[in-house]
Amino acid sequence: MSGINPYVAIAIAALVGLFIGSFLNVVIHRLPKMLERGWAEQCAELRGEESPKVPLYNLAVPRSQCPACGHQITALENVPIASFLALGGKCSSCGKPISARYPLVEALGGVLAAAAIWRFGATWQGLAACVLLWTLVALTFIDFDTQLLPDGLTLPLLWGGLIVNLFELFVPLRTAVIGAIAGYLALWIVYWLFKLIRGKEGMGYGDFKLLAALGAWMGWPMLPFIVLLSSVVGAVIGIMLIVFKGRDHNIPLAFGPYLAIAGAIALFFGPRLVQIYFY
Ligand SMILES: [Zn+2]
Repeated sequence: MSGINPYVAIAIAALVGLFIGSFLNVVIHRLPKMLERGWAEQCAELRGEESPKVPLYNLAVPRSQCPACGHQITALENVPIASFLALGGKCSSCGKPISARYPLVEALGGVLAAAAIWRFGATWQGLAACVLLWTLVALTFIDFDTQLLPDGLTLPLLWGGLIVNLFELFVPLRTAVIGAIAGYLALWIVYWLFKLIRGKEGMGYGDFKLLAALGAWMGWPMLPFIVLLSSVVGAVIGIMLIVFKGRDHNIPLAFGPYLAIAGAIALFFGPRLVQIYFY
């Protein structure tokens, strides 16, 4: 993949990233609903009831609709960011405002992909970094909305980290495997200590799997840095929420978004920052 003009490669990454971001919106919106439907079906089955016949619902079906009026989004209304601007942030059918989150996620998809190719070049490493960052975006928003980190995202991300490092794209395989184990165990231990001492659950199993995945991608030496960084990110966001939104600081916030954001920062700046602190 080398030999491409780096600026052309960054521009292509940004463009592709915008459309991936558009797909991430679908994943963020539908994956939790798909999980809920699955659980409802399993519960019905356990109770010996016939599972209710519901229309097909997955990442591809049905076509995207306006949540307010059900108007089907046409291909022309689905161009990342441009459509949002052209429509003035409103549904073309009912005129209800469209959440600014849609263009934001699209922009994130594009900006992060461009940044990954800028940092790692038009290489397999750059491509892998894009996939990691896009998955982290989806996990961040899903966890923020629902306090869930779906296995359908965290486990493939964990495998993906081991597979890319089978080819030593980021760290040697040994460092990656230990990273996956240590990432999971570190939070698992904190979870049980917290539960034994406070009688409360401070985080969920999804958090363990996410840190295991980050360990698999970036190796165990990055883990203390990621955990430290996630608490800094958490504190900054928490203070911002209290200052700007008057959020009750007793409301538990999901931990996953902080881990994911810390992971993304570690991917770009980790090796350099770890060097500054430890050497
Ligand atoms: Zn509408």
